[in-house]
Amino acid sequence: MALRIQNISKSYSNGVKALHNISLNIPAGMYGLLGPNGAGKSTLMRTLATLQEPDEGTINFGVINVLEQKEEVRQTLGYLPQDFGLHPKAKAEELLNYFAVLKGIKEKKARKEVVEALLRQTNLWDVRRQKLGGFSGGMRQRFGVAVAMLGNPKLIIVDEPTAGLDPAERVRFLNLLSEMGENSVVILSTHIVEDVSELCTRMAVINKGKILLETEPHKAIEDL
Ligand code: ADP
Ligand code: ADP
Repeated sequence: MALRIQNISKSYSNGVKALHNISLNIPAGMYGLLGPNGAGKSTLMRTLATLQEPDEGTINFGVINVLEQKEEVRQTLGYLPQDFGLHPKAKAEELLNYFAVLKGIKEKKARKEVVEALLRQTNLWDVRRQKLGGFSGGMRQRFGVAVAMLGNPKLIIVDEPTAGLDPAERVRFLNLLSEMGENSVVILSTHIVEDVSELCTRMAVINKGKILLETEPHKAIEDL
């Protein structure tokens, strides 16, 4: 399934035009949205995650009209926001189980299996009984991925997930994301060039709300 974004524009009430006529076709695989602070990345990501309305434009995910069929999108959406807040006193396994309940995974045995599989995949199994407040940045982001992956989403939106990670954690995080998102559309927003050059199959560069370039990462680097 592919994500098709057509002519999306958004102005905020303070007059800032955050997105100017954005059009992108995003195939399955890991897709990088590269741009500096204030480029409009979070605005676009929130719009794709059905948390914000654009002023104009259309978005389709396969046969789903994203701006009209929000419930359908949310059933197949995994979203890791930039300011992913955690409850410092909650333990990893308990909180993931709680999110699994919210996600509608009702049957206890199936939920237990899903939670266990995700904790193992994100390499958090050994710390599952620890409080999130003691987690490193990398552990926190891996926990965020586990939450985002609940319910096997086909559209996965991760907003600046590597900001603040050290290089080793960054690489580990990106590998995890690319493995877990193999059969989904994964959109990764970042201001770090290496995030897109290492594992993304395609990429767009955004600045001041406009797409400057849409290409394969190795071609973008050749063009520099
Ligand atoms: P990025 O994620 O690339 O840093 P944002 O989408 O957060 O970019 O921001 C794009 C522009 O929109 C910036 O100029 C920012 O200050 C402005 N902006 C973002 N959110 C709001 C808001 N809620 N109200 C007003 N302006 C906003
Ligand atoms: P179904 O998707 O057919 O409803 P379940 O949700 O019970 O089945 O999951 C079946 C198995 O798939 C689980 O035991 C678990 O190991 C794995 N699984 C389910 N959801 C995920 C996920 N989001 N990420 C990784 N593995 C998962």
